[in-house]
Amino acid sequence: MSNQNIPYKIYLSEEEMPRAWYNVRADMKNKPAPLLNPATGAPMGYEDLRPVFCDELIRQELNNDDRYIPIPQEILDFYKMYRPAPLVRAYCLEKKLQTPAHIYYKFEGNNTSGSHKLNSAIAQAYYAKQQGLTGVTTETGAGQWGTALSMACAYLGLDCKVYMVKCSYEQKPFRREVMRTYGASVTPSPSTETEVGRRILAEHPGTTGSLGCAISEAVEKATSTPGYRYVLGSVLNQVLLHQSIIGMETKIALDKYGVVPDVIIGCAGGGSNLGGLISPFMGEKLRGERDYRFIAVEPASCPSFTRGRFAYDFCDTGMVCPLAKMYTLGSNFIPSANHAGGLRYHGTSTVLSQLYHDGLMEAVAVEQTKVFEAAEQFARVEGILPAPESSHAIRVAMDEALRCKETGEEKTILFGLTGTGYFDMYAYEKFHDGQMTDTIPTDEDLAASFARLPQVPGQA
Ligand SMILES: *Cc1c(COP(=O)(O)O)cnc(C)c1O
Repeated sequence: MSNQNIPYKIYLSEEEMPRAWYNVRADMKNKPAPLLNPATGAPMGYEDLRPVFCDELIRQELNNDDRYIPIPQEILDFYKMYRPAPLVRAYCLEKKLQTPAHIYYKFEGNNTSGSHKLNSAIAQAYYAKQQGLTGVTTETGAGQWGTALSMACAYLGLDCKVYMVKCSYEQKPFRREVMRTYGASVTPSPSTETEVGRRILAEHPGTTGSLGCAISEAVEKATSTPGYRYVLGSVLNQVLLHQSIIGMETKIALDKYGVVPDVIIGCAGGGSNLGGLISPFMGEKLRGERDYRFIAVEPASCPSFTRGRFAYDFCDTGMVCPLAKMYTLGSNFIPSANHAGGLRYHGTSTVLSQLYHDGLMEAVAVEQTKVFEAAEQFARVEGILPAPESSHAIRVAMDEALRCKETGEEKTILFGLTGTGYFDMYAYEKFHDGQMTDTIPTDEDLAASFARLPQVPGQA
């Protein structure tokens, strides 16, 4: 294929931007398993979810049928402030690696949240506002989601209450101040503000927290405050739907130049950026139009796909949320505090879990020292200082490109560069000082966590 005149950056004009999100579930033969009520084991319907989530977002969550969902004009207008995101041909990295491979990355770090999270934050805040709500609650781990949501809430005039995983709250005071600049209130989790927080603190005094704990607190706060709902920055079907803007823009840009990727790589925490990036390509694969390799990259210290169970599990530590069928390490699993690179959630998207289970996607786990080596090499040639999360994808893209160097294959590699790492300099510092280690859970650690998976009728 002639990739001769590809610019360094492929931009789209505003007119070329997608006007609808693509819902990959519409093309899946095996739909993702429904959320279950933890008390009864029954699938959660629209009415069951209303106390927790905004009405329109529940419709999106449950919509397995509509292939395209129009993006409301106000969201499109907001997107135009920081989108379309550039698709970059990594010529400098290719040269550095001396690989015959062609490498592209979609860069989502060009906004103040520093990540793709704003794509869903604005959508969720918009639907909350439409419904006449006054505020939303959420959790944040590394802080990008909380920042994105506080930006969206400030723009639309909504209250924003963020429970921030305690170790991040302490390690990333500047993230916290960015959120407060946008008017959010930020509480370290677990906190004494909620019943579930007090319970978790009593059971695990001195805990540094986890996303699972923070979710429980945010849900309790939302359901006990009139005019509030809970919003989540990843994992849910609706979030993957909003993030499909990443993949759709990428596909439009590549199509302009007749470029077809052989392999598409993304880091996987809750799965939203990966799901969003691969969605339109996966749609082609599901419809039998074209084949691609998809690779989910996760940290070896939190290996949900590669070492987890495909089972119904709680989405949170406090066990107040619905059960989701997903690749999970168990909701009690708390990754080592040593792990600096984000992607700390115990489970992952039900959509991606089903696709992985059906053999449509691969997954690899990588150690964080290797991830930071790749991050540094990338920064030195491509200029962008990548987020540790994003650097998981960089690692595997580089590994693929180096393999091409051995085999002489001229593969086209596409990966998602989800964000920037300016607030992760403690992690970079540890790496530079040679203090970074890899703490990988043992089989016994995982077995202990699996033993506490919930009993669900009809599950082995
Ligand atoms: C949140 C985040 C991720 C991981 O979340 P997903 O839902 O798996 O996409 C990856 N990269 C960055 C920069 C993030 O902020």
